[in-house]
Amino acid sequence: MNIRELKNWYQDYKKPLIISGPCSVETEQQFRDSVLPILNKVDFVRGGIWKPRTRPGNFEGNGEKALKWVKALKEETPFKFAMEVATPEHVELAHQYQVDLVWIGARTTVNPFNVAELAEALQGSELPVLVKNPIHAELSLWKGALERFSKAGVTKLGAIHRGFHTYQQSKYRNIPMWQIPLDLKSEFPELPLVCDPSHIAGARDLVPEIAQKAMDLNYDGLMIEAHCEPSKAWSDAAQQVPSNDLSALLDNIILRDSAF
Ligand code: PEP
Ligand code: MN
Repeated sequence: MNIRELKNWYQDYKKPLIISGPCSVETEQQFRDSVLPILNKVDFVRGGIWKPRTRPGNFEGNGEKALKWVKALKEETPFKFAMEVATPEHVELAHQYQVDLVWIGARTTVNPFNVAELAEALQGSELPVLVKNPIHAELSLWKGALERFSKAGVTKLGAIHRGFHTYQQSKYRNIPMWQIPLDLKSEFPELPLVCDPSHIAGARDLVPEIAQKAMDLNYDGLMIEAHCEPSKAWSDAAQQVPSNDLSALLDNIILRDSAF
């Protein structure tokens, strides 16, 4: 199947599609406290189960144990859950725990071998699969990963723009280079394009302006990291917004934007 033949699966959701939740699922209590205040604002709750840390020695996720916490909270209060998958075993667990959406991380998109393995594991899957841009600014590698999933029969496919690593001086952790995702979207208008202002910003104060810019550019959705106590987060502490602030942040964007 070709990317151009994709159906607008995401039209079932209000625009913008909102995915939010903590960078990592740290403890059962932290997940609960991070998620409950945002539930009425999100289409999908996000939470990292395995964390691809750039350097060793940092928290690398709780794995399957965290999926049990997610399942328990879902049984109490239903919501849709989204997580990153980086190996076929992660995909297997996504199916086993009835995860509702998966995404491919920026460090995975760069590697065609990894992507091919994941595409095989997701062959014909009904799961929505969102592909983050590769860490560096190479549009063809991003397209190549999307094509591998599309050819494997993944029909609920989308892209996440999380900015690009740079050595240049920049106020952002990852420079947005907006033209790259916009070129992708103009080539594949059927492909929903979600912005991840958190990983672009690297600092929570910058998240609203990036989210606003994405909305001004008519992006289809936002993925925003939100945590009950961001300064104490075990990963990406500087960029997560307090869960209690997410609602106001989104309302302010909506108020200013004619695209809604
Ligand atoms: C994340 O979403 O927490 C993450 C690790 O993102 P990225 O792959 O964009 O670095
Ligand atoms: Mn993160």
